[in-house]
Amino acid sequence: MPTLLIQNCSVLVVPETGECRVDESQDILITDGKIASITPTVPQAPADDLETLDATGLLAVPGLINAHTHSPMVMMRGAAEDLSIDNWFNQKIWPMEMNLTPERVRVGARLACAEMLLAGVTTFVDHYFHAEQIAQVAIELGIRANLAPTFFTSTGPESREAAFEAARQIRALGNNRVTASLGPHAPYTVSEEDLRRTAEVAQSENFRIHLHAAETQDQTTSSQSQHGATPIQILHRTGILESGALIAHACGLVNEDLPLLAEYADRTTIATCPKVYLKLAMGPTTPIKQLQSANVPVAIGTDGAAVHNTLDLWESLRLTALTQKHQEQDAEWMSLSQTLRLATRNGAQASHQNTGTLTPGRQADITLVDLSSPHNQPLHNPLAALVYSIRPTDVVHVVVDGEVVVHDRTLTTADLTEILTQANGVAHTLVDLTKPGAVQRYAP
Ligand SMILES: [Zn+2]
Repeated sequence: MPTLLIQNCSVLVVPETGECRVDESQDILITDGKIASITPTVPQAPADDLETLDATGLLAVPGLINAHTHSPMVMMRGAAEDLSIDNWFNQKIWPMEMNLTPERVRVGARLACAEMLLAGVTTFVDHYFHAEQIAQVAIELGIRANLAPTFFTSTGPESREAAFEAARQIRALGNNRVTASLGPHAPYTVSEEDLRRTAEVAQSENFRIHLHAAETQDQTTSSQSQHGATPIQILHRTGILESGALIAHACGLVNEDLPLLAEYADRTTIATCPKVYLKLAMGPTTPIKQLQSANVPVAIGTDGAAVHNTLDLWESLRLTALTQKHQEQDAEWMSLSQTLRLATRNGAQASHQNTGTLTPGRQADITLVDLSSPHNQPLHNPLAALVYSIRPTDVVHVVVDGEVVVHDRTLTTADLTEILTQANGVAHTLVDLTKPGAVQRYAP
């Protein structure tokens, strides 16, 4: 892989604790896909064998990490609006998912990866069906991905085993940007027997697990009355927590869940997706303050665009800061630095990647943004711009694994017009509700 030199940019430094800062006038040297050095800019002609990227006037931030999504659901963007969570699932999404085919999933994943890269997302942590198609798309577009092939208990042990096999096949691709996890849907759609089997496979084959749990307080109450245990207690007694899990949402946590999560804090990450909680009126958001006091890291996701409408992680991190301040009634909580850490460093933990900060030795996943537009000026505080005023269109260049995959706001790996034409050509087939049945019924 050629060596790349990003010249004359500012660099966002995200420390493990404490305040983020911006270092001005830096050069980032990348070799073998990793950051080799970050040094003050020296005005000199670089060596002939260096590829260079002039980043004068731009700010380099760690590539954003979308810690929980269902990428192909961009195909249902805007097709299920103003609905309760029950009706969203039962009247729209799960009947629509009867229409999934490998080809339609591939087309949706291409649109999703294009949207994410152009908005500065360099890694997405995905949970969906036909994940082998999504793997091919991630490789094609050059984005980093951790993919969890999804299953429900209602579709039988064959679909469970097929999902495990899909994870093995993704791993067997041997691509360093694409990794796999196991993807049971949630404790309310997957039996304890199947969760135990998932934990067994995860531990014997060294996979992590990505699933939804405790999405709402109602789910927790109903789990307690049906199973005598909270969703987190079920993950504990089935070995899921011990295996290492990325848990989406966890808005319905109760006090007795925290010690269980704390016991496995070294291998657990929670993904919060606040726009979804607001839009589906799901009640309180993820209790990040309590999780943090139990040392459980929290990262930020969009969830699927069938509810979130975008895969814009800037929007998600902004809503994380706002909803956290509101929920805690504490304007000093979820500071700029805390919010940026969730979307970068903690995202790297969620995706099990050596990314998330611009530090020598880390994989070179870098988003270069231009903060000169009116909505960011005057720039008293670049951290405030990154959390509260930036737009995805301020992203200029994106580097993944040392490769420039977005140059001057244009994908270098695929043709966006073709991606849009293809997506619009099949979008109607995915939202068609004439087929009887549904892939699942929401009744937690
Ligand atoms: Zn989800």
